[in-house]
Amino acid sequence: MRPLSYSRAATVEEAVALATEDPASAFLAGGTNEVDLIRAGIAEPDHLIDINHLPLAGVEDLPDGGLRIGALARMSDVARAPGVAERFPAISSALLLGASEQIRNMASMGGNLRQRVRCAYLRDGVSPCNKRAPGSGCAALEGLNRGHAILGTSEHCIAAHPSDVAVALVAFDAVVRTVGPDGERAIPADDFFLLPGDTPELEHPLGHGELIVGIDVPGAPIARRSVYLKFRDRQSYEFALVSVAAAVEVVDGAVADARLALGGVGTKPWRARRAEAALIGARADEAAFVHAAGAELEAALPRRHNAFKVEFARRATARALGQSMRGVEP
Ligand SMILES: Cc1cc2nc3c(=O)[nH]c(=O)nc-3n(C[C@H](O)[C@H](O)[C@H](O)COP(=O)(O)OP(=O)(O)OC[C@H]3O[C@@H](n4cnc5c(N)ncnc54)[C@H](O)[C@@H]3O)c2cc1C
Repeated sequence: MRPLSYSRAATVEEAVALATEDPASAFLAGGTNEVDLIRAGIAEPDHLIDINHLPLAGVEDLPDGGLRIGALARMSDVARAPGVAERFPAISSALLLGASEQIRNMASMGGNLRQRVRCAYLRDGVSPCNKRAPGSGCAALEGLNRGHAILGTSEHCIAAHPSDVAVALVAFDAVVRTVGPDGERAIPADDFFLLPGDTPELEHPLGHGELIVGIDVPGAPIARRSVYLKFRDRQSYEFALVSVAAAVEVVDGAVADARLALGGVGTKPWRARRAEAALIGARADEAAFVHAAGAELEAALPRRHNAFKVEFARRATARALGQSMRGVEP
């Protein structure tokens, strides 16, 4: 058994200082991911810094119609906050379609953004995995890769990013706010998640001791009719094979604005900018939605078991755009 020490931070400054002075430390929020990884021997901190007593659990409305979500706000509280459910239904749905009610009651927003991928080859602790042991290879490339990514992959890693809510946050230009030893930062959510490239072990741009304090989502009237559709092997307690956060604004039958991001298919929550560009000015109908999705998926690099995701993602995207246009609840 490995010894593990525990501290409880009372303030953001104390949490950052405790972490900064101990390079073998990790923050502990709900523990639904960190404790699993410690038990599996994938994460090996010597010192857990409990941040649950920090005053970061609020969900506030911003004057521009946006949201300020505390890093320690629990997934279920955020999903049900009136400002989220009314003005950003895709964010609310993405949260409610994730994990289980018990996990959502424990799991924090900051922890959700930092959760590790669900690749079985990372988690088994023995297979070649460039995330766990850089340079060891990627067993998923030729292995069982049905759940793996088709966008943003590299020859070193094809693990799909697991978060649902991150997909909706990326679609609506959320910003991750942090406090670290060098001060405060505001990181666009799209830049918060790193592509694997040659360094799949680096998943986010945070330095050691840098604490996520919150997530700001700018006001976006288009988001009022946004949807989040999630397709998976079973209806609860399961990660997405394909998911879509979508919002579309139609004026005189043409697309005036669109926000689109995909989950389950990318090595990071995938903002579908090519599809968005293809949609603007197009006639708002299913053919245009399918065409736009196809433009995004041209870059897809499927593997042996996950080629089905290309067509799946195309159809899911078209369906999500159609539902957003009609204002139909997912
Ligand atoms: C069975 C199961 C099913 C799941 N299904 C889904 C799903 O369908 N969709 C989905 O999106 N998620 C799913 N999850 C993941 C779940 O949402 C995450 O485990 C959870 O959000 C992590 O939050 P936490 O507070 O428990 O983080 P912790 O486990 O406490 O921490 C996770 C990581 O984040 C770091 N961390 C935590 N807070 C901060 C902070 N404020 N600043 C910096 N670093 C921080 C920790 O050091 C650790 O590295 C599932 C999890 C389980 C166990």
